[in-house]
Amino acid sequence: MEAVQADRIEALAVLFGNGPVAVLTGAGISTDSGIPDYRGAGTPPRTPMNISQFMHDEAYRRRFWAGARIGFLRSTGVAPNAGHRALAALEEASRIEGVITQNVDDLHRRSGSRTVVELHGNGSVIRCVTCGHRWSREEVLDRFDDLNPGFAARNANAEIAPDGDARVRSTGGVTVPACPVCGGILRPDVVYFGETVPPAVFEAGESLVREASALLLTGTSLAVNTGMRLVHRAERIGIPLAVINRGPTAVDARGSVRLRIEGGATETLTALVEALG
Ligand SMILES: [Zn+2]
Repeated sequence: MEAVQADRIEALAVLFGNGPVAVLTGAGISTDSGIPDYRGAGTPPRTPMNISQFMHDEAYRRRFWAGARIGFLRSTGVAPNAGHRALAALEEASRIEGVITQNVDDLHRRSGSRTVVELHGNGSVIRCVTCGHRWSREEVLDRFDDLNPGFAARNANAEIAPDGDARVRSTGGVTVPACPVCGGILRPDVVYFGETVPPAVFEAGESLVREASALLLTGTSLAVNTGMRLVHRAERIGIPLAVINRGPTAVDARGSVRLRIEGGATETLTALVEALG
């Protein structure tokens, strides 16, 4: 790492001298795990999950589960990277309060972080919209296989799409798994576009910010409103912000930003752990 960047890492480490820091992460921390950042520069526009259509249209749900089955089979290589592990190590050393994340990829927990506030839910969890029971995506996909024998093998070569999805051609005969407890509709435990973050989840994030001496934003351009609400909370409390990101963010010009590092989350967080000893 260049000397200039090393100075900035030192300055970032100094910020940790005032007590534990709260961390907010976004897609940029997971790109090195092979999960694309759809908001990053040069990425094509995408069609996000339409949750209203999902809830009202059985054909949409057939396509969703068919795509999820094949997408899951082909995404088994996704694992936490050194950036996730650096944050888990910082928590272990009581340098950070915990991680607030906009990601739904479960990689913070899988890397060993214990206090994780998932603002947008967790895509590896499936819940019943009627009775609220939760299952792992894997369990529901196992049931999908029982309901649709031979489907996975027949469609294993379908083109892979973002968010653990795949473009399966023919889904007309697919049987959608329903809640085994009440027969209700099962959906990913994720906050989709147009839905709101549950108040208790936001409050959990807010309480981490309240207890922190600074708020570190990493791998996020702050394009999502919930992230900005936490920035506003930090400013109201009067704690400084630090930013690690590739490319501009929505907070760059704010007076509360004490330090900005233009760079990837993985190498910067790894260097930070070294600087903090
Ligand atoms: Zn149910």
